[in-house]
Amino acid sequence: MTGPIHQTPEQQNTDTVPEDTPFAAENTCRRCKGTGKVDGNRCPDCQGSGKVITPVGGAG
Ligand SMILES: [Zn+2]
Repeated sequence: MTGPIHQTPEQQNTDTVPEDTPFAAENTCRRCKGTGKVDGNRCPDCQGSGKVITPVGGAG
């Protein structure tokens, strides 16, 4: 590997991938357990939707 690795600051859940990622599917957010809230605030992982897009297939 050469050069720096670019990371998206707001992407905190390592399981979360962009919606246009192949072989990805919607799953219940593990941080907020699908409630969309953590400690009374909007869940940062799912943006309050209670769901996250995660890879499918177990290849990771
Ligand atoms: Zn969440």
